[in-house]
Amino acid sequence: MTLGLIVVSNREPYRPQPNEDGSLGWQASIGGLTAALDPLLARVGGTWIAWGEEYPEVRTVQLPPQHPGYRLLRLTLDPDDVDAFYYGFSNDALWPMTHYFVDRARYRRRDWAAYERVNRQFADAVVATYQPGDIIWVQDYQLALVPRMVREALPDALIGFFWHIPWPSSEVFRTLPWDREILEGILGANLIGMHTREYARHFLSACRIVLGLEAQGSELQLPGHRVRVEAHPIGIETADFEEIAARPEVRERAERIRSELRGPLLLGVDRLDYTKGIPDRLEAFDTFLEAHPEQRGEVTLIQIAVPSREAVESYRRLREEVEGLVGRINGAHGREAWTPIHYQYRGLPREELIAHYLAADVMLVTPLRDGLNLVAKEFAAVSQRGVLILSEFAGAAAEMPEAIITNPFDHDGLAADIERALRMPEQERLRRLEALKRGLREHDLAGWARGFLRQLAPHAELA
Ligand code: UDP
Repeated sequence: MTLGLIVVSNREPYRPQPNEDGSLGWQASIGGLTAALDPLLARVGGTWIAWGEEYPEVRTVQLPPQHPGYRLLRLTLDPDDVDAFYYGFSNDALWPMTHYFVDRARYRRRDWAAYERVNRQFADAVVATYQPGDIIWVQDYQLALVPRMVREALPDALIGFFWHIPWPSSEVFRTLPWDREILEGILGANLIGMHTREYARHFLSACRIVLGLEAQGSELQLPGHRVRVEAHPIGIETADFEEIAARPEVRERAERIRSELRGPLLLGVDRLDYTKGIPDRLEAFDTFLEAHPEQRGEVTLIQIAVPSREAVESYRRLREEVEGLVGRINGAHGREAWTPIHYQYRGLPREELIAHYLAADVMLVTPLRDGLNLVAKEFAAVSQRGVLILSEFAGAAAEMPEAIITNPFDHDGLAADIERALRMPEQERLRRLEALKRGLREHDLAGWARGFLRQLAPHAELA
């Protein structure tokens, strides 16, 4: 049987971009979802449904641009709804709450109403697109109500749902006034994917505490269908990263980055988000410099902070906080010809990012909370001799025990881990890196998508 796949996500896999001749071109969006699902969808055929932010008059387009294999269906959202659904409920309520920042979460009824409306719009589009036998895969926390809305219209549909951010403890989840609705929305799916077993366990315990539903292992029986909740940690395009890292121009760029510094390079690369623990990392680096005067004038921290959600007030405040800290630490320790923290407020293109990974002696991935964290995986895939320091509160820590696992709230402990990483003998560094690389080759991005879909639809020929 020929099966079609319907992928549903807030962001579109390609963005419209005018060509010089005035026609409209399509540029692939950066990120794991496009990289994983675009080739798959192109092979099996189907529809990707997403919000068409720019050029809303273009309703559908055949993709990928060079070898069309599927259709992108672009939804037009009301601008007020975008504000309340996306910046409001998704990013100012669900995002902070799931990352354990309850005090930052803003639970507004107006935002919730827009969230419901937009989810309904997506669900209606799925129902209108659906052909019997299709497989539906809904992505992420912006669209948690879609599975149930679709299930109500299509009781027999096969629906997968992936939650890409942490699922917190029920004590935190219950602070959400719409805890029941979010759970019931997701439970419209047949298979629910999370990045770690811990998140899956938290989800099931929320079902018990909030909805009174008892699971049998990882399964729940609902009136019309069964639901499974599983851990499927996302991977990276390991082979592509290795290939780029082997290019002579990327190697040379890495050498140049190093040659501009006197001593070891510590690296941090994050979206400027309060979940990423950038201020705590800077404080820990400050503690490290206090404790190790011999490293002053030697070690440098390059911190890349990628602009993010600048329309949200708390993100603007975070930027001020981080830049204030950088100034204070550089002022306290810096001297002629040595600035301890090189701070850059910008995103790097992939080759430049990989050159930085290659140049780093120590990679600091120290979020206070993170659904998974791809930067940790990308660094480990390409580094030749570096050490990864990874927060125990990043989902990736569950799969990467060979990193130095750290508690980012403990500045003294993190400072001690920096010291340990800088002193780590070469043999140990290489042994740890090799083990990490093996894991990354075995569980890459394409394998993640295949693995999830195989569990959702074991008989479908998708791959
Ligand atoms: N990234 C990038 N340029 C940068 C910094 C990051 O392209 O300057 C990419 C990086 O390669 C990674 C993604 O952004 O794939 C960040 O994903 P992660 O899971 O680490 O964090 P998120 O931003 O999704 O919370």
